[in-house]
Formats: sequence, C-alpha cells, structure tokens
Amino acid sequence: MTRLPILTPDSSPPSFYGLSRSTLGERLGGLGVPPYRADQIYTWVYRKHHRDAAGMTNLPSGLRERLTEVCGLSLPRVASVNSTSDDLTHKFVLELHDGARVESVSMRTARRLTFCISSQVGCALKCPFCATGLMGLQRNLQADEIVAQVIAMGDFHAWRDDRFNLVFMGMGEPLANYRAVVDAIRILHDPRGLNLGARRITVSTSGLVPQIHAFADEHLAVGLAVSLHATTDQLRDQLVPVNRRWPLAELLAAAREYGRRSGRRVTLEYTLLGGVNDGPEDADRLGRIARDLPSKINLIPYNPVPGLSWKRPSAADVDAFAQRLYPHAPAVTVRKTLGGEIWAACGQLGGLGPGA
Ligand code: SAH
Ligand code: SF4
Repeated sequence: MTRLPILTPDSSPPSFYGLSRSTLGERLGGLGVPPYRADQIYTWVYRKHHRDAAGMTNLPSGLRERLTEVCGLSLPRVASVNSTSDDLTHKFVLELHDGARVESVSMRTARRLTFCISSQVGCALKCPFCATGLMGLQRNLQADEIVAQVIAMGDFHAWRDDRFNLVFMGMGEPLANYRAVVDAIRILHDPRGLNLGARRITVSTSGLVPQIHAFADEHLAVGLAVSLHATTDQLRDQLVPVNRRWPLAELLAAAREYGRRSGRRVTLEYTLLGGVNDGPEDADRLGRIARDLPSKINLIPYNPVPGLSWKRPSAADVDAFAQRLYPHAPAVTVRKTLGGEIWAACGQLGGLGPGA
C-alpha cells in the first residue's frame, strides 16, 4: 500500500461521526483502501457500537492502525447525566472540544424512547419564554457534534431499544444551522449505519421560511414541527421575533408546501402562556388554521424558566383550550411535561440545574 500524505502537519483528522459513508470511502481511497471498507467501519461503529479501530477484526491490521489518520473515533466527554426520580428522563451535558457545553435529553414513555437533541449552543432568535434564547447564540454545532449526542445517549442506554425517535427540539434553531443538521440527518438515516427512519425524525423550527422550502427540496420526508405559539402577527411578532421577518401567512404557506411535498402532516407546536395566548378566541383562530392546513396540534403548557414571569396555565385551562379545538382540529395532543425536575423540559435547556 502506498503511503499518501492525506494530512497537512497542522490539521487533525475530522471526526468519524460527521463523515457520510461516501466521504469516508473517499478518504480511505486516499490510502488506497477500497470503498467497501467504509461500509465495514460503519457497521462496526453504528451497528456493533465499537468506538475503537483495534477491535474491528475484519479490517486489515494496517488499516486498523492507520484509521486514526483518516478520522477520529473519540466522542465528546459526557460531563454529566442527571435523571428524574422515576429514572425515565435523562439530561446529558456533552463538553465539546472548545469547552462549549451542549444539552440533550432522553425520554422514555410506555410506548417509546425519544432522544431530543440540540443543533446549536444557545440560539440567536430570542423567543422571550425560552431559556436557550436567553443565552444568545454561542455557536453552531458541527454535524459530528449532532450525531455524537445520539451516540452518547444510545451508549448510555446500551442500545437496548431497537428503535427510538429523534426530535431536534433541544437547544438552538435547527434550520439556522441548516447544512450541519441535514448532513447529520443523512448520516443517522444511512441504512448501513443507525438506519434511523425518516418517520422517526422530527425537526422543529421557529419559522425560517426559505430554509423550510430548501428542506422540502432535500426529499428527506422527516417530520416538520412549526413553533406557532400565536395566531396573529401582532402577538407572534412578540412571542417568536423571527415572525417580523417571515409573518404567519408566509410561514403557513411554507408549512403547507412542506406537508404536501413530504406527504406528512406538519405539527403545529403551541406553547400555552397563561393569560397571553390561551383565550377562547386564540383557540378559535388556531382551530381555523389547523382546519386549513393538514396538521396535528401539539399544545405545550409553559415550562418555567428562572427570571421569566410567564405563567403556566392550570390543567383545567389547558383542557378547556384543547376541548375548544377538537371540533375543528381532530389531532390535538397536550405534550406531557417530562424532565421538569431536572430542568430538561421544552424550553429549559440553557445551563440550568445540576450538571449543566
Ligand atoms: N428552536 C426550535 C426548536 C427548539 S424548542 C423551535 O423554536 O422550534 C422546542 C419547542 O419548545 C418549541 O416549540 C419552543 O418554542 C418551545 N419552548 C421554548 N421555551 C419553552 C418553555 N419555556 N415552555 C414550553 N415550551 C417552550
Ligand atoms: Fe431559539 Fe427555539 Fe428557543 Fe426560540 S424557542 S429562542 S427559536 S431555541
């Protein structure tokens, strides 16, 4: 095998977890290694959960030794794992190479295991009820740092579950870190890798309209959730400031288009803020929106964030809101609050609580 210089002295190899199988194959090609070796390495890492080339017994020993020149297999350090007292929800903090900390959550219910992952450290969009928004944007995550969150949670649960769902509902706005998010989804979706089905993946967006259109063009058919939270531009301008750039009519048109092209009903997320957006007239407007758009509504009672004075509506108020929607919008669910006690519920990721 000829030894080709594939690295300059000051460059370290990229992380394995950000490489598609074809890119890995190309990099291996630089060493004169045939592309099918990339399939084998993918199987070792994503199917057999090996994190060390030494144990990849069907690779030639020379390749096992030189794999570190092609890519790095190490994962970010898990700085903390905190669990709820029922042991069903876990919040993970990963420490990245530059010291940035990213939070992810695994949630187990009777029916399924769901991983909630982050796409950015912090967020620039400043929705005024969200702990991540309060942080501002520290930086985008790279594709490997997104994939690594899934691996860290899967390793923690020892891959006992043959299936899990994945939601991009952690820190950050996924569509503001478009390339890395799409690359990570393709890697997770790879049939020779984790083979995570598109139906098991949901991306939640606060409403970046051009990226919603671009996302439809990817033909990934993953689920799209839109953070609606208000039914008038006047209120949405306040609650989801990105609405000032892309108002409701444009957002709903983009959501409709995404739904049509992906063949999937979009989810309308609606965080209920007591006395702000939870009145009967809000429910009526939301019902009309849902009637005109093939969608499911997911109501999220506000989860408290220290320093913010929004109110969580009572269970009875949440129920009354949902009841008013049912005649117009048959698919309404109320998101169960999981992880509140460890600051792991929706909107609570932002350096809060133990270990964060
Ligand atoms: N940035 C993306 C995804 C992350 S958050 C987005 O905004 O869609 C997942 C959901 O939780 C979003 O609908 C978000 O608006 C909502 N959320 C944020 N803060 C919340 C809070 N304190 N209580 C309840 N839901 C919240
Ligand atoms: Fe960012 Fe989403 Fe939080 Fe808004 S709700 S600040 S878009 S993470």
